[in-house]
Amino acid sequence: MNLDQLLTAFDMKLEGAEIRTEKVGDGLFVLFGVGGNIAVSVGDQGVLVVDDMFPELAPQVREAIRKVGGGDVDFAINTHWHFDHAQGNLAFGPEGTWIVAQENSSKFMGESHDLNLVVATYRQEAYPENARPVISFDDSMRFHFNGERIDLLHAGPAHTTGDTAVFFRGHDAVHMGDVFNNTGYPFIDADNGGEIDGMIAFCKAILAEMGPNTVLIPGHGELADRAALQRYVGMLETVRDRVADLIAQGKTLDEVERGQADRRSRPHLRSRIGVARLRESGLHEPPEEG
Ligand SMILES: [Zn+2]
Repeated sequence: MNLDQLLTAFDMKLEGAEIRTEKVGDGLFVLFGVGGNIAVSVGDQGVLVVDDMFPELAPQVREAIRKVGGGDVDFAINTHWHFDHAQGNLAFGPEGTWIVAQENSSKFMGESHDLNLVVATYRQEAYPENARPVISFDDSMRFHFNGERIDLLHAGPAHTTGDTAVFFRGHDAVHMGDVFNNTGYPFIDADNGGEIDGMIAFCKAILAEMGPNTVLIPGHGELADRAALQRYVGMLETVRDRVADLIAQGKTLDEVERGQADRRSRPHLRSRIGVARLRESGLHEPPEEG
């Protein structure tokens, strides 16, 4: 499946896509468009973004940044290597933006990988050198930029093996990338090292860093808060435990998927959660992807 087919399958249109801007506070904005949400820090020292959508949207992203008083993008931090968050590197990197990512994400961007999205498999091709991070880190990194401390934290494998949460300490806000997806059940890239236990652990590490009023910027979906992240952790734990029970009972993947591990919304359960657990258990092989 190529990118056009994939975007059509997921009802994502790049052509004519509009960017909506929401202000978190003076100098910090969130851009909503197609693909992962972008956080933008604008100030005396320049522009820093977290994630950069698609190269096709770079003109609209630049225009949105210009409208909130920014110019060229000095730094782009990728929350992880997936195309809907990092592909914009292909536009910004060659123009001189310094790209930053966790070391594992940096490695993944330099290689080609199949992304098993359950309903489709997409091959994300290696990015050229000028679209890859020039700065990477293992566990944490700190910026002092536009008058605030910006902390980058990695807490082990979760959505991928290279996730980063970005804390804007002066604004009391955090961009969690796809470790927190606010549009429904999360996708866990189990085929490339993502783990549900890691998702839960990562979220708990972020909760420990958050204050009562921290603004939560999700990888996808609307802004949220601490309470939403707590509910999300509860949902992940419930699904994990119910699926684990079904596996312990010797159920097949198909039976697990029909087993309403989370009764609120059955159809969405056909997720990597079940597949990952089954694979881990060694009891059943997942079915061939059509
Ligand atoms: Zn992702």
